Order: sequence, then C-alpha cells, then structure tokens
Amino acid sequence: MRPIYLDYAATTPVDRQVAKKMADYLTVDGDYGNPASRSHMLGWLAEEAAEEARNDVADLIGADSREIVWTSGATESNNLAIKGVAENYAPEDCHIITGATEHKAVLDPVAYLKSKGYLVTILQPGRDGRITRAQVADAMTEKTRLVSLMAVNNETGVCHPVAEVGALCAERNVYFHVDAAQAIGKIHVDINDWQATLVSLSAHKFYGPKGVGALYVRRRSPLQLKAQIHGGGHERGMRSGTLAAHQLVGMGEAARLVGQNFDEETTRIGRLRDHLWLGLERIGEVSLNGDPTHRSPSHLNVCFHHVDGEALMMAVRNLAISSGSACTSATVEPSFVLKSMGLSDQDAHSSLRISLGRYTTEDDIERAISSFTEAVTGLRSAPEQQRG
Ligand SMILES: *Cc1c(COP(=O)(O)O)cnc(C)c1O
Repeated sequence: MRPIYLDYAATTPVDRQVAKKMADYLTVDGDYGNPASRSHMLGWLAEEAAEEARNDVADLIGADSREIVWTSGATESNNLAIKGVAENYAPEDCHIITGATEHKAVLDPVAYLKSKGYLVTILQPGRDGRITRAQVADAMTEKTRLVSLMAVNNETGVCHPVAEVGALCAERNVYFHVDAAQAIGKIHVDINDWQATLVSLSAHKFYGPKGVGALYVRRRSPLQLKAQIHGGGHERGMRSGTLAAHQLVGMGEAARLVGQNFDEETTRIGRLRDHLWLGLERIGEVSLNGDPTHRSPSHLNVCFHHVDGEALMMAVRNLAISSGSACTSATVEPSFVLKSMGLSDQDAHSSLRISLGRYTTEDDIERAISSFTEAVTGLRSAPEQQRG
C-alpha cells in the first residue's frame, strides 16, 4: 500500500494540470523545438512558451520577466547567486554573511568560497530557529558584500525576517540573496517587500517538475553576476544551456496555479497542520521545534521526547515523513539545523519533520494522529526505552 505522503518539504508530486501541459512540449506532435532556433516555427513556438512561463514565474514573486534566469533548480540558483556575486571581488575583500540553518546548497558554496580565502560569518539562530536583523547588522563590516538568508527553513518551516534584513542590506549597499525554495506556495513572496537582489526558486517544491528552477536577478542593481556555466550565452550570458521548454512550461504552470489558489490552499493546509499538532500534543511530552508563529503553514517539526526518531519512523511505516537526520555511512548524525537551535543530541534524535501539501486530506491527518499515538505509546512502554 502507498504510504500517506507527509514529506512535501522534500518534494511534491507534479500537479496533473502541470504534467498535461508539459507533455505538449515533448513529442513529435508537440512543440518540441529548441527555443533558441530562430529560423523556424517550432523554435518560435518553444521560445514563446518559455517566455510565457517566465512571465508566470515573475508575476508570482512581483518581478519583471527580464529578471528571471532559468536554472536546473534551487541548488544551481544558490550556487550561481553566491559564487556569481563573490567572483566580482578578491577573496580578502569579500565578506559573506549567512545562517547556520541554511540548506546545504547555500552552506556548501559558502564553505567552498571560504576555502578559497573569502571571509565568512555563519550566524547561529536563537532557540526559535530565527536569525535577527540585529545579528546581521552586528556581523556586517565594510567588506560585507553579500548576505544570504533563507525565507522559510526546509526542516522546521521557520520564517526568517527577510524583509527586515533586506531593508538593512539596502541601507548598507550589500547584495541580498534569499533562498525561497520553501517559501513559494506557503508564504506570500514579493521580492520588492524583501528588497532582494537575488532569489532562488525550485519548481519541484511547488507541484512542478524536478530539475528546473530559477534565479531572480534584480535589474535595478549594479550587480554583474558572474556566470557559473559557460556555453552558448543563453539567459543573457548568465546561464548557458538549451532551454528545456517542457520543464519551463511546467514551472510556469505550477507558478500560475500557486498564485491562483494561494489563500484557499494555505488556509486549508494551515488548518490541517494545526489539527495534526493538537492531535500530537495530546500524546503528551511532545514539543514543537522552532518559532510557533513565524512559520510556514505546511511544516511541523516535532520532538517526541524519550523516543528515538529513527525507531518512530520505522514504527509509522504507513506515513512518508523525514527525520532531518543525515545518515553518513554507519552513524546517524542528528539534524544540524536542530542542533544549531540549541537542541540536545537526544532531542534532535527524537525529532521528526512532518510536512503537508496540496493533496493532504483530513482523513490522512486522522490516520497520522492514530499512527503516531500508537507508535509513540508503544515505544515509550518498551523496556529498552525505559532503560535508555
Ligand atoms: C529543496 C531545497 C533546495 C534545493 O533545491 P533543488 O531544486 O532540489 O536543487 C534548496 N534550498 C531549500 C531551502 C530547499 O528546500
């Protein structure tokens, strides 16, 4: 039997309407041309589709379509944003500020730059998982060129004060990058409210296909982003490679659907999430990780005290959820995000991420509450748990 899917933060299924539209750009009877082919109709049709999709993505975040650069996903967008800014400067003249709870797709490019001599500050969040404007302000030096702060954390759903940090960066003439992969479809995203220079997006986090994303690059900015992939000069030289029209059409349609159903969908999912949390609280000795108010409506990160998270995941096999732990060869490392928020190893090991989405039903939530209740009660009464 297929499990109840409660791992929407990892990826989402492609909306059927999106998949249907994508199929029109693949096969011999469709518009399969290369959008860069200027000499015939199939090229023009593919280009038109790509540009329409660009408009849909731009509209969703309050951008101009000329500010959207297509990429393969948020990992590439983050790399392009961070290295693309840094390479304008000598390492010793470039200070980058980011947060400890960022996705690896931000932390790893930053660590790479640090290994090349760039100056780096990694801010630690409070117990609530948030990084404050004051922390960023305190960390700034005259060499600070870039601040990178995610809008919504992928593990906890905690929202950072990106608009406040954006205002600070604007004041200090510092470029501001926001990884918004988890924000689209969950919180209201407006790049002007954020005063962002660069914003990373990923289609598969909002019911589009995997393998496509975008980077918003502010036009009214002196920034000259350095390309990371060189080739045919596509995307105004910022990202070469044949545009995958079917992928772009998929991302565009997914963006359009998010815009169309935003209020209704976030309200519905938020209610289900609250209902789930009430049900889990009733089990007793559970706590919510991260700020209870500044959060995405679709995330819950829950610590089930005195229970091993991996064992609990095994016990609720009818649910597809995530532990946030990274399995490195033999050992299971507790989530670095939860650890940075000050959770003990034990509490981090007892925590699970539950994330809801478009296809989550009330029935799914009722069944999830029953499964958790039974599994946690069972594990807590097991003799080895009492000894441990
Ligand atoms: C999923 C995710 C990424 C990576 O996106 P891909 O498109 O899968 O490369 C980056 N940042 C955050 C916050 C994410 O949730």
